[in-house]
Amino acid sequence: TTFKELGVNPKLVKGLEELRIITPSQIQNEVIPVLLSGDTDLVGQAQTGTGKTAAFGLPLLQKINPSKKVVQALILCPTRELGQQVAKQLFKFTKYTDKIFTEAVYGGAQIDKQIAALKRPTHIIVATPGRLIDLVNKKAVDLSHVKTIVLDEADEMLSMGFKKELDQILGFLSDVKNKWLFSATMPHGIKQIVNQHMAADAHRIE
Ligand code: AMP
Repeated sequence: TTFKELGVNPKLVKGLEELRIITPSQIQNEVIPVLLSGDTDLVGQAQTGTGKTAAFGLPLLQKINPSKKVVQALILCPTRELGQQVAKQLFKFTKYTDKIFTEAVYGGAQIDKQIAALKRPTHIIVATPGRLIDLVNKKAVDLSHVKTIVLDEADEMLSMGFKKELDQILGFLSDVKNKWLFSATMPHGIKQIVNQHMAADAHRIE
């Protein structure tokens, strides 16, 4: 199959081609059509290096309305490094689309600079859970227009001690119709999150 056959927008496909991303990986073949088919929750067991960023990133980008300058998607990840990597990939994928602005925020860096950055138009926030909550408490982010939330490397977020923060964020975003969780392993804490916060009929990929 091709990305076009999976339903990926031609402008995104053009960006992928420039990155030499031509043939969808297994997880991309499985996940992209499901996530493009309409609002759905998804639980995916997926290792790094399998192309999972594009698997959720392409459908996520396709659900963004670039002309609406509000935060429409939230990607939670365990570390600054992963967050920056995800934001960079999304930026590259959108080279030929209308401008889509992604901001990465994480702990251990000056919050004032992140608050200033978030005053610019932002469609997608990539965040570590603790820093996102700090920014919400400071009213630096408005999550009321979020339509998609991704938990990337969810088991790693639990290992970093972010369970309480994840429960809090998913608690105030309980109306979001697209919750996509990716995890290399499925320990008890992950199953708890899935049972508590995700639809019973969520798609499952292993
Ligand atoms: P990820 O698993 O999302 O961290 O992706 C790992 C690397 O593989 C990244 O550098 C991607 O740009 C690249 N990649 C993702 N999907 C594909 C694909 N279908 N074909 C070739 N490379 C890919």
